[in-house]
Amino acid sequence: MNTKIIFAEKCLGYGAWHIEGPQRIKTAQEILKEKGYQFLEPAPATEEDLLKVHDAEYIWNLKKGLVEDADTPAYDNIYEYARLSAGSALLAAKTNGFSITRPPGHHAGKNGAALGVHTRGFCYLNNIAIAVKNLNKPALILDIDGHHGNGTQEIFQGDAKTVYVSLHRHPHYPGTGARTEGNSINFPLPADCGENMYLKTLDHALSMVDVNKFEVVAVSAGFDTHMGDLASLGLTENSYNEIGKRIAALKKPTFFVLEGGYMGEKNGQDIDQLLRGFEAKQ
Ligand SMILES: [Zn+2]
Repeated sequence: MNTKIIFAEKCLGYGAWHIEGPQRIKTAQEILKEKGYQFLEPAPATEEDLLKVHDAEYIWNLKKGLVEDADTPAYDNIYEYARLSAGSALLAAKTNGFSITRPPGHHAGKNGAALGVHTRGFCYLNNIAIAVKNLNKPALILDIDGHHGNGTQEIFQGDAKTVYVSLHRHPHYPGTGARTEGNSINFPLPADCGENMYLKTLDHALSMVDVNKFEVVAVSAGFDTHMGDLASLGLTENSYNEIGKRIAALKKPTFFVLEGGYMGEKNGQDIDQLLRGFEAKQ
């Protein structure tokens, strides 16, 4: 496989008790290693990288650990973990790779929680937004996590160079994304809708955007749409292979940043299938 996996062992060092814990990534990276993927080690993003997306006050609070909410604890050194995950997304963007470093990012808005939602849904910094803003190229952001990326929508709302497309379960956390708003094209889907409906919707979504306008495709790759996971849309390993083929058919430089997906072993298989589908069509 050509796509490199971007991963930092250090990201397994916190939050063992949380559903967004190290095990979901540890198992996935073991599976990907076994399958022969090559790995790259990221460096942390700089404060300057983060400030292209987040307010200085929010960054200051994150450094001080003043960011606790119901599902996003103020772990010791969380700023350093979050900077590393953002740096992993930056390296994925540079190498057309797949970042699997945690914590995830798409619920984090400019100043923390986004679009009136009260929690940040396991996210501290918006990794994919930091990668796209630092690339500074016209970008299509495709969010296939089962939850709506309210943070990403907020950050890019009205940005003429970027279109955000999201397929997600609704009604469900965070409650946003019920309709399209400007350059945020949203496709709410019912729980466990299944592969046929999902792929039809994805085909329709991708037919609505003029791909020629973009120089890069950035994928918020969440796997909690897998049958039985937190935001299940009833998808299976095969579904991710099909999604990968459709992303490859856009024929643009592409990178992937892991969002959700809480069944470690399935995460690893699903990432592999997504990349197999993607590479088969390139
Ligand atoms: Zn999710």
